[in-house]
Amino acid sequence: MTKDNPYYECGEGWHPIIDKAVAKIRKYHPDVEFLQIKEKFGGLRIYTSYTSPAIEAIIELADEFCEETCEQCGKPGNLRMNGKRSWVKTMCAECAGDEWVDYSFPEPGGQKGESGGS
Ligand SMILES: [Zn+2]
Repeated sequence: MTKDNPYYECGEGWHPIIDKAVAKIRKYHPDVEFLQIKEKFGGLRIYTSYTSPAIEAIIELADEFCEETCEQCGKPGNLRMNGKRSWVKTMCAECAGDEWVDYSFPEPGGQKGESGGS
């Protein structure tokens, strides 16, 4: 991942949303570096070399868009969980198939730390 061409660690459905967020952030802060852009718990995470209220607002908005956009194809989607792997992703019904079931996050505040990884 480089400053000029950040790598998106997520499905292509979110790339247009991230493109916009990255462009907006660069408009306010041309010197900011994108350390990591990835999907986590069905939401979008953008890590920058420094932050500001503008950056935080843009990232929050992009995350909100991603949470209702299929990560695979960009159609409207919602959070789904894969029972076998305990993964959460945002997908549309078409991409989800039978393996992924509707899933709603617990209320904010009850969020646990990242479990395990792998
Ligand atoms: Zn889809």
